[in-house]
Parts: sequence; structure tokens; C-alpha cells
Amino acid sequence: HAKFFVGGNWKCNGSVASVRTLVDELNAGSVPKGVEVVCSPPYIYIDYVMQHLDAQKFALAAQNCWISGNGAFTGEVSAEQLADFGVPWVILGHSERRALCGETNEVVGKKSSHALAAGLGVIACVGETLEQRNGGAMWTVLDAQMKALVDEIKDWSKVVVAYEPVWAIGTGVVATPEQAQEVHARLRAFCAKHLGAAVADKLRIIYGGSVNDANCAELALQEDIDGFLVGGASLKGPAFIKICQSGA
Ligand code: 13P
Repeated sequence: HAKFFVGGNWKCNGSVASVRTLVDELNAGSVPKGVEVVCSPPYIYIDYVMQHLDAQKFALAAQNCWISGNGAFTGEVSAEQLADFGVPWVILGHSERRALCGETNEVVGKKSSHALAAGLGVIACVGETLEQRNGGAMWTVLDAQMKALVDEIKDWSKVVVAYEPVWAIGTGVVATPEQAQEVHARLRAFCAKHLGAAVADKLRIIYGGSVNDANCAELALQEDIDGFLVGGASLKGPAFIKICQSGA
């Protein structure tokens, strides 16, 4: 699989003061050469972060974008604008957007193909709820989420898939390495079946959900875990740097 990939999803957190502190902490850390790191601030801080975060170590991602190009879409930011501004990545289909903003599998698939066409890299998120896992629906749910991506995305070279079980997000209940590995292997097999072995082999499948500097090392050892998407722990510079270093 390609380079280990770590994303820091800051979600809707931060202030002018805290973002300045976090950027300073991140710049002071050392990121291994073999690890690709992207930080994803709220839109309003992207300009500041772009100007001050060390671009040798960190790239930027937006947390969402609009489903089509520029136009009369009040409150939205297009993939074209992100590309124009120099933001190389976007997170799409995060479970918070699926659950709170009504984004369906189809919307996430269409957003992904549009963002890729605009030249962005896409971190596409999938994951089941606890109810779905316990009720035996998890593979159906994950397959449908993946199918919507496979149906829309032609070129997978700039796609990273993030497996984020909803029950692990922000709960402190991290998936065990075995649980995460089981799903990652299944997602890769799904891609092999629909996209071919070469694409599936290269695809980075990263894990998200209560990753921290204490549990990352064990997860990183798993065969099919190619990185992390980090929420809470990405707001603390030293902890996030340790997570990045676990991929070396
Ligand atoms: P936490 O790391 O806070 O559980 O969040 C994970 C996540 O949703 C990253 O996108």
C-alpha cells in the first residue's frame, strides 16, 4: 500500500488563539519522511493555517465541500474554490455529516467524483453504527457505502478510504486492532472485486475513532491499516505528532 497517511480532523473546534497554539506545536514536531500528514481545520482558519503551518511536513484538507461547482449555493464552498486556493484534500462523507446534515451514500459518491474532477484528493469516510453492528447489518451498510463510491469514482489514485465506526467516534471506545483489521481487509476485498487487485493493493484504508497516542502503535501494525483519521487527539500537537510517528 502507498505511504502511511494521517489526517487530523479538527471538526468545528478552535479559536484564533487555539489555532495559533496548535500550529506552533505542530511545527515544533518531527514527522517521519515516510508518513503523509494532512490537517483539516474549519474553513475560517484555513487561510491562517496555510500561511503558518510548515508545508514540508503538513498538507491541508477541508472537512467538506459542495456537490457541484460555483453558483447560487449560499453557505457552501466548492471543490473548485478549494483547488484554486491551494487546498489539496477534502474529507467527504464523515459520519457527522451523514447523520447531522443528511448526506446519503449517493450524495457522498457524487461529491467525491466532483471533488476528484476538480483536482482534489478525497478522504472518503464509511462506517457502521453500534446498532447496525450488533444487529447484523454492518456488512450490508459498509458494502452500500462502498458501492456508492465505486459507482461514481473512476480514478482511485487520489482516494483514501477512512473506516470510522460511528460507535468509536468521540467515545473513547477504540476498535480493537482485530476489529479494525477485519473491516479493513473486507473493504480492500470489496475494492479488489470491483476495481481490480492493483487498485485495491495501492488504496490506503485508514482507521478513525478514538485514536490516541497510546493506542495508535498497535493499530498501525495491522496489515490493512494504512493510517489514521484523528479527531480529538489532533487538537493536541504533541499527541498528534506521536500518532504520525507511529506510521514510520
Ligand atoms: P475522534 O478521534 O475524536 O474519535 O474522532 C474521529 C473522527 O471522527 C475523525 O474524523
